[in-house]
Amino acid sequence: MKFVVGNWKMNGTREKLREMINKTNGIKTENKVVLCVPFTMLGEKSDIIAFGAQDVSTHDHGAYTGDVSASMLAATGAKYVIVGHSERRMYHNETNDIVREKAARALESGLTPIICVGETMDEKRAGKTLDVITAMVRESVPADVHDKIIIAYEPRWAIGAGITPTAEEIATAHRVIAETLSYMGLDGTPILYGASVNATNVTDIVAIKNVDGVLVGCASLKPDEFIPIIESAR
Ligand code: PEP
Repeated sequence: MKFVVGNWKMNGTREKLREMINKTNGIKTENKVVLCVPFTMLGEKSDIIAFGAQDVSTHDHGAYTGDVSASMLAATGAKYVIVGHSERRMYHNETNDIVREKAARALESGLTPIICVGETMDEKRAGKTLDVITAMVRESVPADVHDKIIIAYEPRWAIGAGITPTAEEIATAHRVIAETLSYMGLDGTPILYGASVNATNVTDIVAIKNVDGVLVGCASLKPDEFIPIIESAR
């Protein structure tokens, strides 16, 4: 079983989501398929797809205009939430501390946080990839988590760029993340690879050691592209 998680970002409509649900309904897969959609599209049901959000508040309720809490997400039937996506870290100045808070709120409401980590191109060029992702994992994961978190390794420079790291680079990053999680007492935490995954490269990517699935952006928007990814991830 692999995780195949789609991230629609700020795209799509409820109609498009219903089309995806209809087209995926008959497919046979052992994979865990998740779609993280904009807040406004949550509340749908599917036999194949579990739903998630792309962000969550650090607060449970109160005067936080525009925010949505973990308990509100859970009430829609959502089971997952992406936290610390690089676009949130970049455009909303989310630090590891904020990401950790968000993940903690998600866990309290029974949601599985998908915690994203990944280096920038400058950090990669400076040879800092492994140090950066190790620190991000250590600082973004809440204390006393026993299970029910997922880590997504998403090299920022490869997101939406149509390029991926080499298989060796992915293997090294995932090994280091697995070792870091083990040191934190979190052996067995699923580690997903994300950034420019498509139907052509997914088979090779999920065959890499310590890759438990994929986080898919652009290629998760259309059934014609997402279904082959679901079917090829083994
Ligand atoms: C993402 O933004 O989480 C992502 C993986 O994007 P893409 O697949 O488009 O690179």
